[in-house]
Amino acid sequence: MLKKFFSSRYIIISLIVFLFIYLYSFFNLYFANYTIINDNPTPNPNINYQTSISSKCFAWPVPGCKTITSYFGYRQGSAVVSSYHSGLDIGAPTGTYFVAITDGTIVNTGWTGSGGFTITLVNQNLRISYCHSSPDFIVKIGQKVSRGEVIGQVGPKNVYTIPNNPYKDSKGNPTNGAMTGPHLHLTIRKDGVAVNPLDYL
Ligand SMILES: [Zn+2]
Repeated sequence: MLKKFFSSRYIIISLIVFLFIYLYSFFNLYFANYTIINDNPTPNPNINYQTSISSKCFAWPVPGCKTITSYFGYRQGSAVVSSYHSGLDIGAPTGTYFVAITDGTIVNTGWTGSGGFTITLVNQNLRISYCHSSPDFIVKIGQKVSRGEVIGQVGPKNVYTIPNNPYKDSKGNPTNGAMTGPHLHLTIRKDGVAVNPLDYL
């Protein structure tokens, strides 16, 4: 038995099993943020939401989601007229948690028309709006929040609770503001003027 155990076949099988267990735990550790984040009804206590602090001391608004779907500024359309985009769009599924990019006070939670359901945070002369959010707000007006603290979730594409909502998708269903799919639109206004969020993040 002992002789058999130390034969090469057993050693190779053992090595494969150990390698599999090692790789499995390695991938779990590294991709936990991306797989768990949207499935929990409350922020996951195992995720450190303050991990992505930029050199400018602001937190990335959507931990685990780095895809920018539209940049700030004038974007070229197919027509002669180019359109102005007041913020930064970050692609993220409905339910994805987003965080306060800096310390501040919540000054608005509600419907803002083209921005859909929106959470607004103020820090001195900066006014930071998170548009197309979930209408199930988890922060209250007047609440003080800290950088990296979860303040809301990316909302659904369609919302049905706004009377006479002028924003509709191609099927005629009312949408969460002017948008074609779930994402976070982040606007930063400095002294009332919209600035490029990437100058801060
Ligand atoms: Zn946008």
